[in-house]
Amino acid sequence: MALIICKECNERISDKAKSCPKCGYQKKKSNGCFWIFIAITILTILLYLIGSNTDENSETNSMNIYDSAIYYDWRTANSSEFLTLGKIILENDFKVCGEYQVKKLNESEYLIGCTPDGITWHYRTVDINKRKLYYLPPSINEKIKAPR
Ligand SMILES: [Zn+2]
Repeated sequence: MALIICKECNERISDKAKSCPKCGYQKKKSNGCFWIFIAITILTILLYLIGSNTDENSETNSMNIYDSAIYYDWRTANSSEFLTLGKIILENDFKVCGEYQVKKLNESEYLIGCTPDGITWHYRTVDINKRKLYYLPPSINEKIKAPR
């Protein structure tokens, strides 16, 4: 334990003491809090930047997905797709789905076109990992050509 000189009364006091025992002068607090505050602020800004980048990426991805939803050709599902998608359609109670055609959009997402009567077609994207169906944005929905 080192001794330091009190700035107020010149008494020699311990460097560990928070205040001078003689005059009560409080030593300056360390700047620890200040630096923690700066670190948190910088982290927050970084996280925000990373976050907004991710948002941008996912937006770009979904734009690509919708592009492929519009421009890919319809096809019938192969047997494993037929099973997987069929189950998800049932689970999500997509009742208009009498017959369906597919477009694979990426590793986990399909566009399906379903028709109860061979005339009217309804479209959903399917996320096979989340086992959910999603509506397409109306602007995309109206650009999709019916399978036949
Ligand atoms: Zn003192």
